[in-house]
Amino acid sequence: MSTTEDTERRALIVVDVQNDFCEGGSLAVEGGAAVAAAITAHAAGNAHLYEQVVASRDWHIDPGDHFAEGEPDYLDTWPVHCVAGTDGAAFHPALGVTFDAVVSKGHWTAAYSALEATEDDTGLLLGDWLRARGITELDVVGIATSHCVKATALDALEQGFGVRLLTDLAVGVTPELAAAAVEALVEAGAELATAADVLR
Ligand SMILES: [Zn+2]
Repeated sequence: MSTTEDTERRALIVVDVQNDFCEGGSLAVEGGAAVAAAITAHAAGNAHLYEQVVASRDWHIDPGDHFAEGEPDYLDTWPVHCVAGTDGAAFHPALGVTFDAVVSKGHWTAAYSALEATEDDTGLLLGDWLRARGITELDVVGIATSHCVKATALDALEQGFGVRLLTDLAVGVTPELAAAAVEALVEAGAELATAADVLR
């Protein structure tokens, strides 16, 4: 059960809900569009839970060997995706959330964690931006559980934030990889909840 004080210090972090990571995109995750819509409903109904609502985006200009020259290995090299300013990098149209901040990452390198991203207006790293606002607890959601959501949650834990993964508002590249990521996050100290749990 959370106190009012906890509630006031919690932020919702929406990781990389971008067209290229949803159905029809260059690095599509099945279920991405549905997660976008579910996050929209959650944010709309729960504004009182969050002091800040932040979106991260993969925002590549020239990320070097993050983009495969030939066949991607889907471990370290990937098809071209989320090129800054393109439709593929835009937030999915089902993501109808008003964000207090947008943080961008990966301009010149691979960047999986939103904690590597900088806030578009201030240039602050996400962790510093959140700490400046007294945020101590994060609800992490988005795409993909197995990759950028996992990296974000692990980095946030390492930086001392309390982290809760809202499992039904995140989707993995495969169910197996998502399950492995969830296990790793629990081991690292993350809490798991569903969107419905948060209301209890
Ligand atoms: Zn990328």
